[in-house]
Amino acid sequence: MSQPLVFFPTTVAEAVEVLDRYGGEAKVVAGGTAVSLMLQHRLIQPAALVSLQRVDGLREVGRTEEGTAVRLGALVTHAEAARHPFLRSAAPLVADAFAVVGNPQVRAAATVGGVLTEADYASDPPAALRAIDAVVIAQGPAGARIIPVYDLLLGFYETALADNEIVSSVVVPLLPEGAGSAYLKYSSRSSEDRPCVGVAAVVRQAPDGSCAEVRVVLGAIAAVPVRVPELEAAAVGRPLDPAGLGDAYAEAVDPLEDVRGSAWYRREMVRVWVARAVTAARHRCTGGPQPPPAG
Ligand SMILES: Cc1cc2nc3c(=O)[nH]c(=O)nc-3n(C[C@H](O)[C@H](O)[C@H](O)COP(=O)(O)OP(=O)(O)OC[C@H]3O[C@@H](n4cnc5c(N)ncnc54)[C@H](O)[C@@H]3O)c2cc1C
Repeated sequence: MSQPLVFFPTTVAEAVEVLDRYGGEAKVVAGGTAVSLMLQHRLIQPAALVSLQRVDGLREVGRTEEGTAVRLGALVTHAEAARHPFLRSAAPLVADAFAVVGNPQVRAAATVGGVLTEADYASDPPAALRAIDAVVIAQGPAGARIIPVYDLLLGFYETALADNEIVSSVVVPLLPEGAGSAYLKYSSRSSEDRPCVGVAAVVRQAPDGSCAEVRVVLGAIAAVPVRVPELEAAAVGRPLDPAGLGDAYAEAVDPLEDVRGSAWYRREMVRVWVARAVTAARHRCTGGPQPPPAG
């Protein structure tokens, strides 16, 4: 079997040109944590590997020009995102999610663009990015397009990216004034494992203490992160009830079954972890302390 040719483009345009030339036979490599396993297990046999490591301009973190969002370059690592002070204050749930991925070795190499484009259902950051309505900037031969994370993730290991497109950045909106947010991961096998259930929550309270807004996104229970808009709408205007929301989500979802838990078990974990995530998010609304990142 022939070895793939390896390319090290230095610009996004060059990277796109190589992908375009190979028409689906080339594989992008960012941190390489997933691609190296795919190659090792012969799940993929690309004709070319296109490393993004030398591409300029993909490692920055900063406020967007309008000041309403944080832009994370596609090559920002999980560890960098987890400890970035601006991201931690602007969108704590996103920093939380990057902080709990795998182990320190994985977080040091894995990238913000890689975890989204890998589209593994049992991942942490996609649920948090979906809860905060993040978008990715995808660059292809015809230029750039904006894809909401909701539209990017189509199914198991399936995204809306074309073979000749790369993600150059992820844009994370700032949390609304007064809102609190949290991402909690539950692993059923080991602390370094992928999630059995992950819950991202955003909460905003009205001056009278009632719920002005709640967003809950569940990761690892279906092919793509799950959001139930009817339950979010029903919670508005009432006293915030974390346990009640836990029960409501447990009844509403149809979890998958895998080595990390049966459908029944996942439903019960949804009940518990939705309540905990909403409680944690509410705690941050009222000016509670921000826990430090785990890595
Ligand atoms: C031991 C271990 C434990 C893990 N535990 C967890 C966990 O607990 N939670 C969790 O969420 N994840 C976990 N992961 C998954 C990890 O987060 C992903 O492997 C990682 O995020 C992928 O990022 P990467 O930069 O290494 O991507 P790569 O391996 O380089 O690429 C992954 C995929 O994305 C494509 N790609 C990468 N970057 C781009 C881009 N900019 N544009 C277009 N396509 C691109 C590649 O072609 C490939 O298909 C674990 C992985 C390992 C190895």
